[in-house]
This record gives sequence, structure tokens and C-alpha cells, in this order.
Amino acid sequence: MKRSPDAQPIYVTQPSLPPLEEFIPYLQQIWDSKRLTNGGPFHQQLEQALCDYLGVQHIALFANGTLALVTALQTLRITGEVITTPYSFVATAHSLLWNGIRPVFVDIDPLTLNMDPERIEAAITPQTTAIMPVHCYGHPCDVERIEKIADNYGLKVIYDAAHAFGVHCRDGSVLDHGDLSVLSFHATKVFNTFEGGAIVCHDAKTKQRIDHLKNFGFVDEVTVVAPGINGKMSEIMAAFGLLQLKGIDAVLQKRQAVDARYREALAGVVGIDCLPAGDEQSNYAYFPVLVRPDYPLSRDDLYQKLQDHDIHARRYFYPLISDFPMYRGMPSAAPANLPVARAAAEQVICLPIYPDLSADQVDVIVAVIAGQR
Ligand SMILES: *Cc1c(COP(=O)(O)O)cnc(C)c1O
Repeated sequence: MKRSPDAQPIYVTQPSLPPLEEFIPYLQQIWDSKRLTNGGPFHQQLEQALCDYLGVQHIALFANGTLALVTALQTLRITGEVITTPYSFVATAHSLLWNGIRPVFVDIDPLTLNMDPERIEAAITPQTTAIMPVHCYGHPCDVERIEKIADNYGLKVIYDAAHAFGVHCRDGSVLDHGDLSVLSFHATKVFNTFEGGAIVCHDAKTKQRIDHLKNFGFVDEVTVVAPGINGKMSEIMAAFGLLQLKGIDAVLQKRQAVDARYREALAGVVGIDCLPAGDEQSNYAYFPVLVRPDYPLSRDDLYQKLQDHDIHARRYFYPLISDFPMYRGMPSAAPANLPVARAAAEQVICLPIYPDLSADQVDVIVAVIAGQR
């Protein structure tokens, strides 16, 4: 049974946008000043505003999260092998290949779907220089254990924190952990600037190196200190970010309400498991569920059934990064090395979650999953 013919398709996410007329004054300022990019006034204001909001010391803005990941590795001069997760968006591992670094995949924890710290230690070799974990779906990694391992072996830690905007663990912002953390402000993320990203770091000297690297390596008009890239965020994006930041608390509240409604409604559905809600301050970025063998349909059949109702859930993260052709020949990509990640990739569906998803829409989605439609 289809939903009523006038019902709109429901996508896995829908970007939140402020009223257009509120953005016009920002545009007027840009037109008046004719400063379009290269660390203009909106860029500086957004860096400061994000430091204040997120509770971190230093932020360098980027044109997107992938350039920020690539530059983070350059910042710390990472080479050799980096231990990372196969259960993520491809950009995590791609940023390593762009730096000529070999990714070494380790398995994930079946409860959190984050990298399993036990496996990290076992994968360290003399070539290992760093660990690149992902706070998957915004759930914090075991940051304390990862820090201990990194300290013991003299490794750097760069977090792919693309999902973790605004997430706090017991001792403050999760972005404060590791040597660097990388954010994405892509249209599909909790906080968006259309495209965008950032590196969070702890000290002014590192921030300065990042700022050089994202501007071709320029220090001044005649001095270039590194083969930098063009990773700069433009003034339009930075201005938009300032406006978006005004609405972020309302966005997070609405996401929390959607998350709570799903959890309550899905609690009685046999074979559908939500990921455990942590005790941290979450951002409700995603709503992944695992379709277990005791659910009447396979994961792919449920995915298709939702599609037939014009509900477009996504199988994040499937396939595993380690299954793509540029990775699958690597020893660490062998299926026997990654059984938990493989099982998760075969069972997960991310259900639609965004601020304007109504309670009625959530109820319809759950009714389809529960077999009542
Ligand atoms: C979105 C995302 C990225 C890439 O960010 P972009 O801003 O799209 O370049 C990297 N890693 C993860 C885990 C992501 O979800």
C-alpha cells in the first residue's frame, strides 16, 4: 500500500536553511566591501564564533571536509601507514591515498560501530605514524584508550569528526581530543555552509601552519613555505555559516525530538535494533538501525520496501571502504580481518532524520518498518 498520492518523498536528510531574506544583508555587505575570499571579515568572525560555540581553542575553515582531512595529514607530516576504519564514508581513506599514505583497516566495535581499540594496538607496525578514527554517526570514539595507545607508541591521532559537530563527552567537546579533528559542513551534515569544513587544533602555531597550507603555502606576498593547496572557505559560505549558527540550537532540539520518537516507536519491533544512546551530549546527526536476522525481511528488502513508499533511507556505510577497488587488494582489507564491520554494513539502514521531519512522518516510517503498511 502506497502513501497518499500527494505525499512528498521523504529523503534521508533535508538541509535546514534560514529564511532567505535574513541572508540578504550579509550579501549586501560582501557586495559593498568586495571582499570575496582570502580570510575576509566573515571568515574571521565564523572562526571565532565556532570556537565559542563548540568550546575549542582554534579552528581553521576550509572549502570542504575532504580538503581539511588531506591538509590535516600534511600539517602533521604524516607518512607510511595510518590505522583507520573501513566503516565510514570513502573520504576518510581517500585522504590517506591523496597523501601517499597506506591505510591499514581494523575492525569495529559491534555496539558503537567505532574502531575497536584492541584492534588498533594489534595493527601497529614500524611504519605506523598515526591513527585516523571516525566518530561514527557522531558517537564519540573511546578517546581515552586511543590517546593511551597513541602515547605509548608515539603516534599522532587525527579524528575524522565529520559527524561530530557539537558533540560533547564527559569532559567537554569531543573535538578537543586527538592532535587534530576535522569537521564537514556539507549540505547533508548537522551544520552546513552548502559545502565547507574545518580543522580543530590546540595551539596557535599549528593553526598558523594550517592557514599557510590551505593558502598555497603563502606566508606573505613573496614567501612560500610549503606546497600548500587552495582549501579556503569563501566569504559567502562563511557569512552563511554565521547565520546558520544562530539557528543551530533549535535544529538540535528538533533532531532530538525525532530521535526520541523513533526510539520509542521502534522499541517493540522485533529484529530492528537502534544503536544505544550514549550519555554524551549528542547531535542526532543520523538514525541508524540494524536489521537483524530475526526481522521478517532482509535489510535490502526493507530498504526496497521503504523506497516503494517513497521513503528514501540509505545504507550508510555499505559497501565498506575496504571493498572499493582501490583498497580491496590490501592485506588489511581481507574479509577475515573485518567481520564486525562487514556484518554492520550488511545490516544497517539510516532512517530519515532532519529538523523538519514531522512526528506524523516518523510514525508512517515506523509503520512501514513494523509491517503495518
Ligand atoms: C561528509 C564526510 C566527509 C567529507 O566531507 P565533505 O565536506 O563532504 O568533503 C568525510 N568523512 C566523513 C565520515 C563524512 O561523513
